Amino acid sequence: SSTAPAMAEAAMAARVPPDEDGDECLPQYRHLLCPDLLQGQVAFITGGGSGIGFRIAEIFMRHGCRTVIASRSLQRVAEASKKLVAATGQQCLPLCIDVRQPQTIAAAVDEALQEFQRIDILINGAAGNFLCPASALSFNAFKTVIDIDTLGTFNTSKVLFEKYFRDHGGVIVNITATLSYRGQALQVHAGAAKAAIDAMTRHLAVEWGPNNIRVNSLAPGPISGTEGFRRLGGKFAEKSNQLSVIPLQRAGNKTEIAHSALYLASPLSSYVTGTTLVVDGGSWLTSPNSFSALLGIASSSA
Ligand code: NAP
Repeated sequence: SSTAPAMAEAAMAARVPPDEDGDECLPQYRHLLCPDLLQGQVAFITGGGSGIGFRIAEIFMRHGCRTVIASRSLQRVAEASKKLVAATGQQCLPLCIDVRQPQTIAAAVDEALQEFQRIDILINGAAGNFLCPASALSFNAFKTVIDIDTLGTFNTSKVLFEKYFRDHGGVIVNITATLSYRGQALQVHAGAAKAAIDAMTRHLAVEWGPNNIRVNSLAPGPISGTEGFRRLGGKFAEKSNQLSVIPLQRAGNKTEIAHSALYLASPLSSYVTGTTLVVDGGSWLTSPNSFSALLGIASSSA
């Protein structure tokens, strides 16, 4: 569109790293950090076949890391892995897991260890979400989100602990959200699920710190080019100019989240554990939380 060059210029002035909307690798990448920051390491990324998880895998690989990307759809992670390997020249092992089923995680971790002999980093990115008022949310829908987000994060962390981190140390980054901070409308399921993960982050940081395991949460705000953005009214906010209420006046992009994940996963944050890094341009402080307005968005996008 005609505004694209102007937006690109504005982004450059604000030093925003460029991004691609779909699940494609970046056509070019300029390193801000040392390209060998994660050299020799291996990251296990749940939800690594799409959206934020895909970009985290790419940015880690561009810093020397090998990756395992795991989710329910083997086809999705296999296709993502091909793109990631082609763009970065690093190894990427795609595996099928359902984070609700510990035995599938255990099998995947065994396979990953057989392939790479080590796992240094766990990114818990797998999640499900949608807009729905509590009054219309089925008991099962609420449970499903808790199952995938909260129990899935616990299951994966525990399997990694038992199979590798207990004896070798490690880093865990849980991808959460700011939804519960102000009780975001139509988000009781995801807000409750992510708040529980932030609590888990602190509990596990305390218990596993002596094993040289760091555990932190990363809470993104609205991130363009993701399923979350499409489903949670981001497109609507973009069209109706609502992103200007965010202190930084825009949505974030996947590369920006991946850079924050890189910080938390790398020795740059070697003394950081048990905390939540909010990466939202200040969004949760100022964004509207109107029950009726969000109901309108939910019904128009349904
Ligand atoms: P996404 O592309 O839909 O990512 C979710 C991933 O989780 C998918 O790759 C999906 O793959 C996987 N997954 C779902 N259920 C699973 C299960 N039972 N077992 C294993 N994998 C499962 O969405 P995204 O928007 O990039 O979100 C990524 C993370 O960021 C999520 O934790 C989300 O809550 C968080 N977040 C996103 C935003 C945003 O603006 N996008 C804002 C705040 C927080 P399969 O379907 O193949 O299983």
